[in-house]
Amino acid sequence: MTEPTMREALGFIGLGAMGAPMVRRLLEVGHRVLAHDLNPVALAAAVSRGAEGRDSPAAVAGEAAIVLVSLPTPEVVRQVALGVAGLAEGDALRIYVDLSTTGAQAAQAVAAGLAPRGVVALDAPVSGGVAGAEAGTLAVMVAGDRAAFDRVRPVLEVIGANTVLVGGQVGQGQTLKLVNNLLAATTWAAACEALAMGAKAGIDPELMIDTINKSSGRSFPTERFAAGPVLSRRFDFGFRMELMAKDMRLALQEAEALGLVMPTSRAAQMLYGLAMADGGAKGDVTELVKITEGWAGTEIAAARRNEG
Ligand code: NAD
Repeated sequence: MTEPTMREALGFIGLGAMGAPMVRRLLEVGHRVLAHDLNPVALAAAVSRGAEGRDSPAAVAGEAAIVLVSLPTPEVVRQVALGVAGLAEGDALRIYVDLSTTGAQAAQAVAAGLAPRGVVALDAPVSGGVAGAEAGTLAVMVAGDRAAFDRVRPVLEVIGANTVLVGGQVGQGQTLKLVNNLLAATTWAAACEALAMGAKAGIDPELMIDTINKSSGRSFPTERFAAGPVLSRRFDFGFRMELMAKDMRLALQEAEALGLVMPTSRAAQMLYGLAMADGGAKGDVTELVKITEGWAGTEIAAARRNEG
């Protein structure tokens, strides 16, 4: 297969927290992007940067041979790919790339649904957050047909400097992404407990987090959730709590199918459940800390936030 030329149209569905900066990068390197989103505000923003709006996934797939999607849940992905006015109805589509976190089962179901149309499906979930999407430094975990991967690799490298082929079997990229997010989510839950303990004991929160981030307790969540969004009380990492909870649910479903118990991850999942029951589903994942702060009767805030 030949590499996509810059002026060849790429399709892109889902212009949210992750999709919008990805499309911006693709436009910046000179790609033509045919975009669709249910949210007219998100679509208008992409069009203002140079994308061409289309009113359905089918319309996008009627013109673009390569279509990327960045959508919230497996249910939405199935609908966009295989539902009414979905991608499967577009005659131009040859390679479908799912950048969302949707699990191996959904990836395999969509691939099976598209195959009779002569469309190759790649799962290509990403990691690195909104900042990684803006900087083009995401990790992209791709699985599926090698020739299709080779063809879309230059496109994926625009959004993800760390693009890898995990394996030839559809769904393997999703499984690796779920393993990653289960680890990040569980680590964050443990950090929320530990940091609340330190704050309740009277340690300065900023000094505590700075020191941990130079010590053996550091992790992506202590560096990128606690140090910025929590200490500033802006809770602005850019990943919704309900999406992290969805990733844990999908990961633990796959673990159960493998016959694994996962007690530590399940305990962490409960903390997210409590936060969501408390009205936090639409909030940022960094707001998980409010639960352990509430239990401890403390707040993990930078002192200088209150100084003028
Ligand atoms: P988001 O909710 O901000 O964006 C999703 C977009 O999809 C929205 O603009 C929404 O309007 C659109 N959409 C929903 N249903 C649609 C439909 N039927 N047709 C067309 N458009 C539709 O979510 P996000 O944070 O950008 O995440 C997208 C995916 O990437 C999720 O699967 C998430 O788990 C994953 N992810 C997110 C992050 C992050 O830090 N935000 C990091 C890695 C992976």
